[in-house]
Amino acid sequence: MSESRKNFDPRAIEAARQEAWERRGDFAAPRPGAGQERVYVKPSSPFTSGNLHMGHVRDYSIGDSYARFRRGRGDAVLFGFGFDAFGLPAELAAIERETTPAEWVEQCGERMLGQMKRLGFSFDYDRVFYSSDEDQYRWSQWLFLTLLERDLIYRADATVDWCDTCQTTLASIQVEDGRCWRCHNEVRLIRRPTWFLRITPYLEENDRNTERLAEGGKWDDLSLATQRYILGRSDGLELDLGGEGRALTVFTPHRRAASLASFVLLSPRHPDVDAWVADPAAREQLEQMRSGGWERSARDARSVPVVDTGASIAGPGGEELPVVVSPLVDARFGPTAALGIPAVDDADRDIAERLQRVSAPEPVEDGEGAPVGEPVAGAREATRYRANDFSISRQRAWGCPIPVVICGECGPVPVPEEDLPVALPRDLRPTGEGNPLAERPDFVDVECPGCGGAAKRETDTLDCHFDALWLWVPAAVPPEGRAEQMFTHPELREWLPSERLVAGNDSGGFVFDQRVVTKALRDIGPFAFLGEGEPFAGCLFHEMVIADGRKMSKHLGNVVNPDELVAEHGADTVRVAVLYAAGPAKTLNWSDGAVRFAGRFLRSLWNYTHERIAALEGLEHDPEAAADTEHMRDRLRKWCENGLAKIAEDTEQLQMHKSIRNITRLFDRIQDFEKRVVERRGRLDRADAEAQLAALVLLARTLVPFAPHVAEELLVAAGVEDASEALEPWPETAEIPVAPGVSPAP
Ligand SMILES: [Zn+2]
Ligand SMILES: [Zn+2]
Repeated sequence: MSESRKNFDPRAIEAARQEAWERRGDFAAPRPGAGQERVYVKPSSPFTSGNLHMGHVRDYSIGDSYARFRRGRGDAVLFGFGFDAFGLPAELAAIERETTPAEWVEQCGERMLGQMKRLGFSFDYDRVFYSSDEDQYRWSQWLFLTLLERDLIYRADATVDWCDTCQTTLASIQVEDGRCWRCHNEVRLIRRPTWFLRITPYLEENDRNTERLAEGGKWDDLSLATQRYILGRSDGLELDLGGEGRALTVFTPHRRAASLASFVLLSPRHPDVDAWVADPAAREQLEQMRSGGWERSARDARSVPVVDTGASIAGPGGEELPVVVSPLVDARFGPTAALGIPAVDDADRDIAERLQRVSAPEPVEDGEGAPVGEPVAGAREATRYRANDFSISRQRAWGCPIPVVICGECGPVPVPEEDLPVALPRDLRPTGEGNPLAERPDFVDVECPGCGGAAKRETDTLDCHFDALWLWVPAAVPPEGRAEQMFTHPELREWLPSERLVAGNDSGGFVFDQRVVTKALRDIGPFAFLGEGEPFAGCLFHEMVIADGRKMSKHLGNVVNPDELVAEHGADTVRVAVLYAAGPAKTLNWSDGAVRFAGRFLRSLWNYTHERIAALEGLEHDPEAAADTEHMRDRLRKWCENGLAKIAEDTEQLQMHKSIRNITRLFDRIQDFEKRVVERRGRLDRADAEAQLAALVLLARTLVPFAPHVAEELLVAAGVEDASEALEPWPETAEIPVAPGVSPAP
């Protein structure tokens, strides 16, 4: 061993390890072997922003520790990911830099992969993919056609922001105070045909399964909470109102107060809404509501739009209830009809105060005990979900082309599967004005697959949320199998469902929709082997990383740059600091204290272990002295046993902050052991030193998942067999020599 490596020099330590991993191909997902458990650890898919941020470092440090831990235990591990490379950020960056999004994405991806490697993340880099690659997005198009055929995708009108000056639609983040981000002119809302994903057929099953996943114990509270929140389940009762021709089934979560209803609230998306809005003035108001972008502000009952239809329906007690339309229903119960009960419901009271035909009654106590209203005949138990179908198309150029041709004769016609992919021009250069795809005759002018006449391609592209619906699939397919067998490759059965998703707490929507699409693909056929239709057996959501108590932003000047941290302190120090500073369910408020702590710990472990290795050589063995300290070595063995059990348990639960705390405690005890022996006998016997070194080796083995470079180099230095040749196994037992005899000196 060279002198330089005896010093704690993170740069040299990291270079040595990373070279060894790469040379040995340690992180290539193994072909699953007999008796080996298969574990697919799925990290989040980063946007190709060009820079890892501290949230990524947190995400991948947790996932990487877990992947390394499972490998160490002898499992076949797939730790793979791809870039979410389509979407507005890349398009805007390309406009700013006067390049093509395709080039920008490539540069960013390479840069980020370099950052990941420097941090020692053990991804199977051969399986990395970009959602914007043709081989990849042709399968997004396949998925689109497959869901379209099953009526799980449909086309309907939706409102979008439009800038007259730039002749383009705008994403909501491009609208600032009602003005265009680019030209600052006022933006208006227009209605245009849009593609929607139908998720409602699978809401009930997602609901049932969420409880089952909770029982499985591999989904943490944070991730389960997001699934329940997005689903937005309300339990109550429903009843049929009215009679012939004017019937309406209404829902209320207030089981004991249905007879106190004062009005009926109808969603503007209710299938019968048009029949209820006959009055021309009300109809015009409804149209305004529909084009008013109300989705964004539908939560506050004092400002949410309300249209009085002028019509009424007979209520549960026979009294006439005014029927009013409001998107507040959608925000609470989905596209349904609900009873307005101001007597017990605050939001309904706010609405009632705005209705001329309703006099708001005094609130009634809805406490436990006696019913507040009369029981209602014909009422039955019912459930409503707030989650709803959503738009998947965007008027953007940098996205997966929608495989549809719009023909003047035939209307929208799906592109035949054998004609996929519909390729996006790679030299596309958006400027922010107009619609770049519509201006490309080589893209837009085609023959109609239906009648053969002249037609135009759909120039909307798929929102990157659609790509994300299946971004967890490709890593499970070897690259050479992706062109033909993306959804049918035999390895999919080996790796799916993913054993654990590790993602930020803002991923709940993605995960919810991925769960829906998995069920659809199960019913359609490709994922029939996933009986429960769940892509993830386990899920860990972590909170974000902030600094000085605030979100990191360029504007605030508090952005922590992972590259600078690694350059200054080394990759392992950064990893340990991020893991140790907070449990995943807590926001990590970044401070230098965590880095100092991690750096100090790794450096002192490094120096201490090297000193003990060097000291061992000159030590002699005295059977009498060894017998006198046997009980102390036995205590050391017990400390190691207990420590190891705790560290393994914490790591299994992905509570890496606890694992590291217990590793540092065990290190304290190993030092303590030496102090006590010296106090008793003045010096260590060779038997003591060997036991202590065995404990240090054990400690290094438990450190491998978290600080892999330092830990593995320590094992090499300690002469551990195979440390330089193969992956280090996780220690299953604490083998510390206790008996007074010693092994022959090497
Ligand atoms: Zn503009
Ligand atoms: Zn046609």
